[in-house]
Amino acid sequence: MNKIDHIGIAVKDLEKSNELFAKLLGTPHYKIEEVESEKVKTSFFKTGASKIELVEARNPESAIAMFIEKRGEGMHHIAFEVDDIEKEIERLKAEGFVPTGSGKPFCGADNKLVIFFHPKTTNGVLIELCQEIK
Ligand code: ZN
Repeated sequence: MNKIDHIGIAVKDLEKSNELFAKLLGTPHYKIEEVESEKVKTSFFKTGASKIELVEARNPESAIAMFIEKRGEGMHHIAFEVDDIEKEIERLKAEGFVPTGSGKPFCGADNKLVIFFHPKTTNGVLIELCQEIK
């Protein structure tokens, strides 16, 4: 795995949180993107070599809505950049980590192929792998 690509934070109100994080980081978000498949709206901030992704539910059935209901707003996932997502998925599965959903990578935000690993198998932290789509 390469660097931490971004940290995902679940928020209730993307507009309000965009203002808050712009103050916190001293820079405004540089893009907003809806991810239909995940029923979420995201915004991104640059922080050096990494990014912060704010994630708002667009639908009460989205995983983000359920997360906030259960645990409140806050840190949701850590995303690692990888060069070969299929290879990393196989490596992690062989180590006993369990992917969420179908176990196949899908198109996420920020022009990335992504997959998540279940927090039950990773000390309570939802892990995302992402590979840039070229
Ligand atoms: Zn993410």
